[in-house]
Formats: sequence, C-alpha cells, structure tokens
Amino acid sequence: MQAERLDFFKKMLTERRDALLREAGAELRALVDPREAAPDALDAAVEETDRDFSLRLQDRERKLLHKIEEAVLRIQSGDYGTCEACGAEIDERRLMARPVATQCIDCQTEAEQMEPRRRAF
Ligand SMILES: [Zn+2]
Repeated sequence: MQAERLDFFKKMLTERRDALLREAGAELRALVDPREAAPDALDAAVEETDRDFSLRLQDRERKLLHKIEEAVLRIQSGDYGTCEACGAEIDERRLMARPVATQCIDCQTEAEQMEPRRRAF
C-alpha cells in the first residue's frame, strides 16, 4: 500500500481510537455520578441496568480499542492491508468500511462460516 494511503488509514484509526477513549471517559463518569443520588430502590434498580449496559459497552469498546492499536502497529510494521490468512491485499473499500480488518473478504467469510460465534462486529 502507498505511504499516503497508509497515512490516511493511520489518521482514520487514530481518530477512532480518540473518539472511543472520549466516549469511554463519559461512560465512566456516568457510572459514578447517578449512584450518588439514588434515593429509592426503583431508581437503584434502573441504575443497575444502566450500569450493566455501560460495562458491556466498555468491554466491547475495549476490544475494538485493542484491534485499533493492532492495526496501527501493522501500519508501522508494513503489514497493514495484507490478509493475515492468505497474504493477499485487502480491498481498500473493505478497509474504508472496517479499518481494523486483518483478513480479505474471502478469508473473513470463510472464518465466519466456520466460527459463527466469533463473528467480528
Ligand atoms: Zn485472505
């Protein structure tokens, strides 16, 4: 992949990472603040639900964050845009839609058919 395209994807990934970190920061605050004003049991129950939801989001975001970090490392090592399974170049339109992709569409489809539970989001 050309250096200027690599720069483009690196910028895209870095911006996504920064946005995720900002959102994660907002959720962490949301976890703490409402609990300090929980006068009755109903409110507390609602807050528990909200809290569980936030924790799941954070887990998902943590995984995405990890994928973004790995993609940035691949850009630095020169492996970005190359399918880790077959070594073919990953279509740039695919990378535009999913910049953390590590496999070409053929390999990804095959992997998903074999392991539907591990489908990437
Ligand atoms: Zn492949």
